[in-house]
Amino acid sequence: MKKNEKVKLTREIEKPIKVFGKQLKVTRVVLILVAFLIYFVALYYEIKTYTPLILGIIPLILIFFILILIQKRILYIGSYNIECSSAGDLYITKLKGNCPKCQGELKVIKKLNEQYVICKNNKEHKFYLQEN
Ligand SMILES: [Zn+2]
Repeated sequence: MKKNEKVKLTREIEKPIKVFGKQLKVTRVVLILVAFLIYFVALYYEIKTYTPLILGIIPLILIFFILILIQKRILYIGSYNIECSSAGDLYITKLKGNCPKCQGELKVIKKLNEQYVICKNNKEHKFYLQEN
């Protein structure tokens, strides 16, 4: 299995994420999630049941993903991605590319510790993704 070659994918779709016509900033998402988290913790102290703490796991997981996004600038979700610009603007993108060996369509594979690109025609055509 050869994986030492690099391919560069182009953005087929680049759509800014907007809320009420305004560009969504990553800092705003973090603030909203932190507010939710504080709200659930406060609610727990108030009503003393574990339900708010269980609900609080949702913003906590989302904060975790946002932190990965801030660090890596891109999150691969199925065939679409969420990208974060250096200014903190969030985008939905779709990457597209062709296999240098057979011109087949390329697909990003994301695993826990590694990420690579494979060809849809032949799984042996495996490449590293060259970051833009
Ligand atoms: Zn191929």
